[in-house]
Amino acid sequence: MGDRRHPELGSADIDVDRYGVALRYEPDPDRFSGTVTITGILAAATDRIAFDCDGPAVTSVQLDGTSAAFEHEGDELLIPLDGPRAAGEPFEVEIAFNSDIAGGDEFVDAGVFPGFRHLGVWAVNEPDGVSTWMPVNDHPTDKAAWTFDVTVPEGLTAVANGVFLGSAPAADGVTWTWGQSEPMASYLVTTLIGPYEIRDGGTSSTGVDLVHVVLDDRTDTLDPYLAVTDEQLAFFAERFGPYPFDRYGLALADSVPGLAMETQGLSLFSALDFDGSLGYVQHLLLAHELAHQWFGNAVSPAQWDDIWLNEGFATYAEWMWLDHVGLQSLDAAAEDALTALDAGGGPVRRPDELFSDVSYRGGAAALEALRRTVGDEAFMAGVRAWVQERVDSVGTTDEFVASMERISGVDLDAWEAAWLDAALLPDRLPPERIAG
Ligand SMILES: [Zn+2]
Repeated sequence: MGDRRHPELGSADIDVDRYGVALRYEPDPDRFSGTVTITGILAAATDRIAFDCDGPAVTSVQLDGTSAAFEHEGDELLIPLDGPRAAGEPFEVEIAFNSDIAGGDEFVDAGVFPGFRHLGVWAVNEPDGVSTWMPVNDHPTDKAAWTFDVTVPEGLTAVANGVFLGSAPAADGVTWTWGQSEPMASYLVTTLIGPYEIRDGGTSSTGVDLVHVVLDDRTDTLDPYLAVTDEQLAFFAERFGPYPFDRYGLALADSVPGLAMETQGLSLFSALDFDGSLGYVQHLLLAHELAHQWFGNAVSPAQWDDIWLNEGFATYAEWMWLDHVGLQSLDAAAEDALTALDAGGGPVRRPDELFSDVSYRGGAAALEALRRTVGDEAFMAGVRAWVQERVDSVGTTDEFVASMERISGVDLDAWEAAWLDAALLPDRLPPERIAG
C-alpha cells in the first residue's frame, strides 16, 4: 500500500469486498486451522495477487474455484494468476492454512494470545496482528465485509465482529457464526474464544443494539458498566454525530490486565480491570474505546503515520467525558499532557513510536489547541463533518487540516506547524478564542 511506517503491509493491486473466515480452534497447544475465502476486484492490472501472511502455514490455494500454485516467501503469500488481468476484474481466492498460536509479549507484539487463565484465546490485531494467524490484505485502506464461522470444543464460545448469527453442532464441537456487514479494517477483527456468555443488552437510549460478552463465571461484573456505556453513547452522539454502526458492546476478556482495544462494534477489555469496580480507570477506558468507534473504526487512518487521528481523538474524547463526570478537568488534562511530553517523541503526525504518548496525549493536546484556535462551534462542526464525510472509509492528516480550514474559515498553517509538525510540542496552550 506504500505505507511509510509499514511498507510490508497491504497490496494496492487488490480491493477486497469480503472475507469468509472458517476457522477451527484447538487447545493444548492453541492452534487454528481453516480456510479464508477472499473475494474482490483487481484495483490495478497485474499477473499475481499478494496477501500478508506472516506466520500461517498455507496448505492449498484455490483461485476462482480451481486449485492454484502459490509461493509463500517470508511474510508474503503470492498467488500467480493464469496470465495478466486488467484492473476491475473480479477474483475469488480460497486459502487453507494452519496457525500455531505462539503467544509472545502482549504489550509489544500484535496477534493472538492464550487466555490469562489458559482458557481459550484473545487478540490485539493492531496494526498487523491478523496476518500473523490468517492470510489477509492487512492495511486499513482496504476495508471489507466479513463473516466468521468459528468451531470450538464444546463448552467454549467463539466471538467475532458484527451480528451473532447463531451456533450449531459440528464435528468435535460447536460452530459460532458472526457477520460484519459494515466495511471493517482488518486490524479491528475480534478473535475471542473461551468460556464466555453472550449477553443481549437490549437497545441503548439512542437506539443502538447492545450485545456484550462476559466470562460465564463472572457475569455480575458487567452490570456497573452498562449505565455508563448508555450515557456515553448519548454524550458522544451529541458531540460527534450518530454512532456509526448498528451495534455496540463490551467484551471483558480472559486477558492480561491493561488490555483495551476498540475492536469494531465490540470494545475489548481485560476482565481483571473490569471486576465490578467503577472508578477513574474504568470511566477513562470505556470512553476511550467507545470514541474509537467514530475515530479509527468508522474513519480509519489512511497511513499508520496518521495514528494520532485515532489516538488523539480517543484521548480527547476521554478528557471530555472525565470533565463531564467531574473526575478531571479538560484544561488540567491538556496542561498535564504538555508537561509530560516535554521530552519529545517526534512530531504528532509522524511519531517516533506508533503507540507513544505523542500519538495519544500529544494528539489530544493538539486538538484542544485547535479548538481554542477556531472556537468551540467551528471545532465541533468540523469534527462531525470529518466523521460524516468519511464514514466506512479512511482519512489523512492533510485532509483533516483542509476540512477544518474549510469549515472554520481560519488559516491553520501556524497551528499545523506548531502542533503537528514540530519535533517538540509548544509548552503552553493558546488562549481561548473570543466568540465573534
Ligand atoms: Zn486508543
